Formats: sequence, structure tokens, C-alpha cells
Amino acid sequence: MERVNVVVVGAGVVGCATALALARRYSDVFVVEQLPRPGMLTSSRNSGVIHSGVYYPTGSLKARHCVRGNRLLYEFCAAHGIPHRRTGKVIVATDASETAELEALCRLGAANGVEGLRIIDRAALQRREPHVRGVAALEIDSTGIVSSEELVKAFARLAVQHGASLLTHTRVTRLEPAGEAIRVWMRTGEDGTAAEEAVETRCLVNSAGLFADEVAALLGNTRWRIYPVRGEYCEVVRSKAYLIAGLVYPLPHPEGLSLGVHFTRTLHDTVLVGPTARYIEDKNDYERDREPVEEFARRAKLLVPAIEPGDLTPAYSGIRPKLVPPGPKPGGKGFADFVITPDAQFPQVIHLVGIESPGLTAAPSIAEQVSELVAAVLG
Ligand SMILES: Cc1cc2nc3c(=O)[nH]c(=O)nc-3n(C[C@H](O)[C@H](O)[C@H](O)COP(=O)(O)OP(=O)(O)OC[C@H]3O[C@@H](n4cnc5c(N)ncnc54)[C@H](O)[C@@H]3O)c2cc1C
Repeated sequence: MERVNVVVVGAGVVGCATALALARRYSDVFVVEQLPRPGMLTSSRNSGVIHSGVYYPTGSLKARHCVRGNRLLYEFCAAHGIPHRRTGKVIVATDASETAELEALCRLGAANGVEGLRIIDRAALQRREPHVRGVAALEIDSTGIVSSEELVKAFARLAVQHGASLLTHTRVTRLEPAGEAIRVWMRTGEDGTAAEEAVETRCLVNSAGLFADEVAALLGNTRWRIYPVRGEYCEVVRSKAYLIAGLVYPLPHPEGLSLGVHFTRTLHDTVLVGPTARYIEDKNDYERDREPVEEFARRAKLLVPAIEPGDLTPAYSGIRPKLVPPGPKPGGKGFADFVITPDAQFPQVIHLVGIESPGLTAAPSIAEQVSELVAAVLG
């Protein structure tokens, strides 16, 4: 049986960034992806925002990897010609009762090491976003946008150039401990009827996104459960896109479920509204029971009163791999950090679980951490 150094399960942005970091260090790195191309799930169904790191508790992995990932991502995009733009963004207080929270976010961001933060008044907000209603805003310089598809492609292409092997249309179906190694059973092909084949790997990285809990369970580890939370978008019709100049956010969801339904002017100069946040049953359900545009318009109007339901058309959706279950949140906060850890029983397996937002931004920084964890296994 073929023996390799590392198998990365999942070719999303995190799996591909990790594969690149590993391929720079080791031979025999394999990335296994069940779908025809890298990045077809959450990694291409997001807002494409390069976040700054203002939202997350100081010292959390989300804060650390977002702040470092932000810098690494701009460097990577510049070095490899990935379409991106440093736009900055505003988080808007719509009335005076929200300004204290805005100031708290500003302090949290500064404590996390985010530079270029300032509170601006109504007049400055009007100059930046004339059609947005608000009494004050937190202005953040380091936020930007990136083509997430091009980013994933570049990580995957460079990983392969550095010697990694990318197996698409290949699903990891079983995992078995095999002495110091892990035997990885895979089934290749579109219809799933091909025979299972196995390799033995000295180290396995579980970067399976929404399915990371199921991949962990293949080794008997049922410690995590992922709750899918769908985020839907609408697009603002071209004739009304002038209403938004850049990236405009409300204050985040009070229970930490999302950053709030926001406006994103994309690299194509279209404007998106969203994403919403709703727990769903099925991890593959992107479309059923979508929110009506009237509901999008109702929320959008809180920030941009001139938006009408007729200005919005339904666009794509994405699904967050949440670790926090539905229902009331203890203490009112539904924060769960990224999980990046060796398996308790099989330390040659490294799990990445709950890699929701800001996972796109954080990917190159997460890759560095995983690379260190792999080095502890391979030496
Ligand atoms: C609505 C929404 C908006 C977001 N906006 C932003 C944003 O603006 N900025 C930001 O930084 N982050 C954002 N995020 C978060 C970001 O998109 C994710 O954190 C990131 O894409 C996660 O990447 P991943 O590689 O971990 O997962 P994925 O992209 O889900 O990749 C996992 C891969 O594993 C594969 N896989 C699973 N099981 C198997 C198996 N058994 N065998 C083989 N392959 C398997 C899957 O097919 C998939 O391709 C957003 C997320 C959502 C849902």
C-alpha cells in the first residue's frame, strides 16, 4: 500500500492554503476533494471580505488568525495577482443607543491589534456613504474584498507546483488507525461506484468544512457536532447600486450568530445584501424556503432607507459550519472559537472544526499553525 506523508481532507480555502504551506516543507502531500474542483462549497459561497479582526474575543484563535491572516492575504494577493481591493468599511450605529457598542467594538479591535480604527460622526459617514442612515460609525481601514474563487485556485495551483497532489472527485469514506499511520479509504468518480482504494498516511489533516464532524467521526471521535446555518444574499439592481459606495455593516447580531445583514460592493461593482443567518437541517440545502425579498428590504432599509423590495433580486447562499447549537445562548453570546487540534486518541490526525467566518481571511494564518502541528508529528 502506498505510504505518504500528509493527506489533507478537503480542498476548500483552508485545505488548499494548508496544502501549500505543507508542500513547501514536505514531499508526498495529498489533498483529497470529493467535488470536481477546489473551493466549490463555503469557500466560494461567502462575502469575499478580508476581515480586520474587530469582532472576536482577544486571545481567541479567530482574533489571532484574522489579524495575521488579513496581512498575509494582502501580501499573497499582491504577489500572485489575485483580484482584491483594500476598501475599508464602516460599522454603523443607527441611533444613539448603539454608539456605546460601537466604541466597545473599537476598543476590542484595538486590543486585538487591528490598526486604522476610528469612530466617525454623522457628517463624516454622510461624506463616505451619502445614502446610509446613521448617527456614527466605526471606520476600519484594513478591511477589503477578494475574489474567493481566484484565491482558492491560486492556493491549489501553487500547492501542486510545489509538489502536492490534488485528487478531485475523490471522497474519503473510511479512516483506520494503522500502527503509527492512518489508513485513508477513498472512493473516486462522479457516481460513487468506483472501488474503494486506500493509502497510508503519517499525518492526516481534517479540513472538511461543514463535514469535519463527520470526518472526525470516521475515527470514532464524536466530540464535535456541526450545525449548519444558512446565509442568503440578494443583489441590488444595477440602477440602485449607487446607494452604496463600499462595505456597510450594522452592529453584529446580538447573539453572535452573524455579523449582521450588510452591504458589500463587490469586485464587479455589483452590490450584495446579506447574508442572513438561519439554522437549517440539511448541510446541502442552499435553496429551500428562502427568505422573501421583502424581509431583506426591511432589514436593508434600517441602514439604507431608499432600498425597496423591487430593488432586490435573490442571489446565492452559503452555509456556516457552526459549533453553537440553536436555541437560547448561555449569557446571550453564541461565540465558539475555531477548533484546530490534534485528535485526543490519534495525535497524527489534526482536526479543523467550526471554521466559519473569518475563515477565508484567516486561511493563510491557520495554514501556518497547522504546518507547525504537522511538524510535531513528522519532525
Ligand atoms: C454566508 C457566508 C459568508 C462568509 N463570509 C466570509 C467573509 O466575508 N470573509 C471571511 O473571511 N470568511 C467568510 N466566511 C467564512 C469562510 O467562507 C469559511 O470560513 C471558509 O470558506 C472555510 O473554508 P474551509 O476550507 O474550511 O471549508 P470548505 O470551503 O467547506 O471546504 C471543505 C471541503 O471539504 C470537502 N470535503 C468534505 N468532506 C469530504 C470528504 N469526506 N472527502 C473529501 N472531501 C471532503 C468539501 O467538498 C469542501 O470542498 C463566510 C461563510 C459563509 C457561509
